[in-house]
Amino acid sequence: MVDLHSHTDASDGSDAPFELIDNALRAGVTALSITDHDTFAGYGAAKPYSSSKGLDLLCGIELSTKYMGQTIHLLGYFPGAAPAEAFGTWLLVLQEKRRDRNRRLVENLRKLGVEITLEEVEALGKTMAGRPHFATILVRKKYVKTMQEAFNKYLAEEGRAFTEREEVPLDEGIQRMREAGGIPVIAHPVRLGRRTAAEEAEWIAAAKDMGMLGLEVRHSDHDAAAVARYTALANRLGLLTTGGSDYHGTYKPDIKLGTGKHGNVNVPMEWLDRLRG
Ligand code: AMP
Ligand code: FE
Ligand code: FE
Ligand code: ZN
Repeated sequence: MVDLHSHTDASDGSDAPFELIDNALRAGVTALSITDHDTFAGYGAAKPYSSSKGLDLLCGIELSTKYMGQTIHLLGYFPGAAPAEAFGTWLLVLQEKRRDRNRRLVENLRKLGVEITLEEVEALGKTMAGRPHFATILVRKKYVKTMQEAFNKYLAEEGRAFTEREEVPLDEGIQRMREAGGIPVIAHPVRLGRRTAAEEAEWIAAAKDMGMLGLEVRHSDHDAAAVARYTALANRLGLLTTGGSDYHGTYKPDIKLGTGKHGNVNVPMEWLDRLRG
């Protein structure tokens, strides 16, 4: 079984890198990609362990980018050599921007009477500490009842503590990924939220013109109709097809490694072979 989309606790998954490898093997996954948000730390930590266990681990990442005011998730796969060093340095700059935003968010919350520190947030989220970790703390300390309430009241764009995080433009993300030897792929296109299939196809064609090389056809959020639509579109545009569960461990308990939600993910080995060229 192949799964090309998963997260460790180096970003917003619950499994430590070695736990993810163990869980993947237990689930019957033989080839896995770790695609943490904006970091290779989880992949790096898991690689020696996965080799010793005989699991085929592909280097991946999921970048958060911005295009016309919308957040677009960009998957990147590095089947050949390790990502070029400049790319890793650039990721560190992104992490520093996230950290600055988190500092401002802490300040804003404290001004609103919320007792919270950067240390607490980073203890939960490490280098990828973000708003979901803030929300978890707000719930724990009973300032709100649910994560969603934490977003609505404080953390969402309309929330009282919100402060902007500088995000990477989509075309820059694609370009840097390709320069580093990566294959950029549109993650979970169903979340683009285009109103019609025609608008969606137009958007994906535009992304291809920016240098996009693949489309995530199979994903836990994709029903059979979506899979059929994206398969046809990828074939028409000459994009590589990929797929994965987008496993986040206990944070999204209905998503299983290798098989997604209620078995809706099933990634052919040929797709991985083609990705590797
Ligand atoms: P960050 O990268 O720290 O800005 O956090 C972004 C994450 O926060 C997203 O991946 C979502 O999981 C979550 N998020 C953002 N906006 C909302 C919202 N309005 N309601 C619930 N969760 C949200
Ligand atoms: Fe995630
Ligand atoms: Fe994503
Ligand atoms: Zn993901």
